[in-house]
Amino acid sequence: MAEEGQAAGEAPDLRGMNRAELEAFARGEGQPAYRGRQLLRWIQGRAVADFDAMTDLPAAWRASLKSRLPLAPAEVVRRQVDPEDGTVKLLLRLRDGELVETVRMRYRYGYSACISTQVGCNVGCRFCASTLGGKRRDLTAGEMAEQALAVQRELLPHGERLSRLVLMGMGEPLENYAETLRFLRLAHEPEGMAISYRRMTLSTSGLAPAIERLAEEGLPVTLAVSLHAPNDELRRRLVPMDNRYPLARLMEAARTYAARTGRRLTFEYVMIDRVNDEPEQARELATLLRGLPGHVNLIPLNESGRGLRSSPPGRIEAFRQVLERSGVEVTVRRSLGRRIDAACGQLRRREAEAPERSPAPLPG
Ligand code: SAH
Ligand code: SF4
Repeated sequence: MAEEGQAAGEAPDLRGMNRAELEAFARGEGQPAYRGRQLLRWIQGRAVADFDAMTDLPAAWRASLKSRLPLAPAEVVRRQVDPEDGTVKLLLRLRDGELVETVRMRYRYGYSACISTQVGCNVGCRFCASTLGGKRRDLTAGEMAEQALAVQRELLPHGERLSRLVLMGMGEPLENYAETLRFLRLAHEPEGMAISYRRMTLSTSGLAPAIERLAEEGLPVTLAVSLHAPNDELRRRLVPMDNRYPLARLMEAARTYAARTGRRLTFEYVMIDRVNDEPEQARELATLLRGLPGHVNLIPLNESGRGLRSSPPGRIEAFRQVLERSGVEVTVRRSLGRRIDAACGQLRRREAEAPERSPAPLPG
């Protein structure tokens, strides 16, 4: 069967298939439908990437599948561990040789994986390393699942499992809408990874119409809006998506999302020294967000060689206090994995030995 995101003539990617699709696949193979569910349990539930290990399937079918279908795990090209906070960053090589990175983070109540949705990104945010070479291609749902499963394979032997997903790796998830949605539904499969929608966060640079579409899907995932500026004049320079969907339009979509899903919103705000971290800008931000259910997450800039500096702790704290006094709920993100560049396309970039560009001045 031809799956979305899969070129014609290619072997089907079982890793990207949900229960109904695997059941149909099994029937197409002359097997009873429940064999499809068994596949789902092995592939998604137990993160098994070897047909030989699927011992409750008929041996002859297993051997036949093995000879025809690729299921090998993505090669882990590099694995880096932050010794202080236990963050693990995996650089994975996909079947066509492209590299994607996935980060595993430990929380008080379990583990979270940060998933990439594209190889590179076309949005062009001023501070982001993922966008430097543009978008190379979209990832399929199966490739997003493989990232989560690569993390799962390291956890399951220790009796742990993934309980959260954040789509905050490389790429703009809403520019790859169909495959991203397929992946979220797949990760939710009760006999698969069984991750609750409420423990999934989709982060976007602000495609207003896609946010409204997402609001109608009936998946109560947390929406994180990458704001980074309190007005269009500055936001246009930092997040070029603002030219397509200015703040008034974006806030309208965010409001609709919150109303339709009942979910509180997250507003991400990367703190860039002397660019967006003045107390006056905090007041402007508070005005912009008045009446919206949610909180602001202040993120120290990960300095990615793009000529911008992170706000120092004192300026972040001052900004936080202005927001708080204006009645805005605000948190400061822990900088997980800072020592291993666990953010934003940096490991892939180093591996690909992209030439260092000299830092350009802020446009505009
Ligand atoms: N494309 C989506 C999701 C991936 S980026 C988006 O932009 O929302 C996930 C988050 O990391 C976004 O909030 C993004 O603005 C932020 N980010 C990008 N580069 C960063 C950097 N150098 N330091 C800190 N955060 C960064
Ligand atoms: Fe793309 Fe997000 Fe990076 Fe902007 S911050 S360039 S949208 S990955």
